[in-house]
Amino acid sequence: MQIVRYSHSGAAPQYGWVFEGKVGPLEGSPFEAFKRGGAQHALEEVHLLAPVTPSKIICVGRNYVAHAQEHDVDVPEVPLLFLKPPSSLIGPGETILLPPQTQRVEHEAELAVVVGRRSRWLNPETAREAILGYTIANDVTARDLQRRDGQWTRGKGFDTFCPVGPWVETEFDPADAVITCSVNGELRQMGSTRDMVFPVLQLLAYASSVMTLEPGDILLTGTPAGVGPLVDGDELLSSIEGLGELRNPVKAEPAH
Ligand code: MG
Repeated sequence: MQIVRYSHSGAAPQYGWVFEGKVGPLEGSPFEAFKRGGAQHALEEVHLLAPVTPSKIICVGRNYVAHAQEHDVDVPEVPLLFLKPPSSLIGPGETILLPPQTQRVEHEAELAVVVGRRSRWLNPETAREAILGYTIANDVTARDLQRRDGQWTRGKGFDTFCPVGPWVETEFDPADAVITCSVNGELRQMGSTRDMVFPVLQLLAYASSVMTLEPGDILLTGTPAGVGPLVDGDELLSSIEGLGELRNPVKAEPAH
């Protein structure tokens, strides 16, 4: 099932589900009991939002060998965790803003795991039960600031630096799916989730040994090789086989 958050004709955002190109409401919560309402609107008629509203966005650095190599760093011995603030979240079609403080913003297409239930101390077996589904994300990064600061809060944390969507797919198998990232139609990144250093269930278990995972929290699982710059006017397309496509325009933010 594909779970979305959407707004129609300016109404308040609500959860919905997608069936054959149409959207219907989800009555109840996707994290608890719900009923599927009848499909009401064509997908193009609704405004899709980021599919969940996370209390935190957990990320994993250097989880693909080829990406670590392109930055001339070693793969970590345990998962390298960092956070993006919920204020960095945007949805499908929303604009990524290039802040005036940076000269180098880069794309990082990533598989994102959506947490389905409150969890602590998961193991790779129980982690499966804690997952609602999967979606596409891009861990947009101000590379110059990430390097200059020595830690990543600023470089990874600007508003609009976490596009996510278009929906949460509950039936997805993360073992071997192709991830691609294109800019203006030019292919920049292509990899497979099978090349993760630490697989999804191990990452979720590890994160849950540090912090309580809440329903709707998102875990970004790292990016394959090929990261590169974004400039004003670009059209970013992140895609994962079985999850669809996430499109976001890119604009320079004026100095304030
Ligand atoms: Mg990343």
